[in-house]
Amino acid sequence: MKFVKILTAVAFAVALTASLAVAADKKAPPGKVAGCCAKAAKDGKACDHACCVEAAKGNKNCEKCKGTNEEKKK
Ligand SMILES: [Zn+2]
Ligand SMILES: [Zn+2]
Repeated sequence: MKFVKILTAVAFAVALTASLAVAADKKAPPGKVAGCCAKAAKDGKACDHACCVEAAKGNKNCEKCKGTNEEKKK
């Protein structure tokens, strides 16, 4: 039953991919969102500052607008 083996392999691959996607989604971005971006997000928008757009492309918070990209150490 070669076919069953292939089906199992495909199902396993899909499950693995799905779990990886969930793990990536759950991971909150480190640091603090810049004030202007938080305000825009509250209105359901993306901040339109060029610096913030550029930072968002790299999945980061804009440091020019006082956002941070690292966990605050206690
Ligand atoms: Zn911003
Ligand atoms: Zn900015």
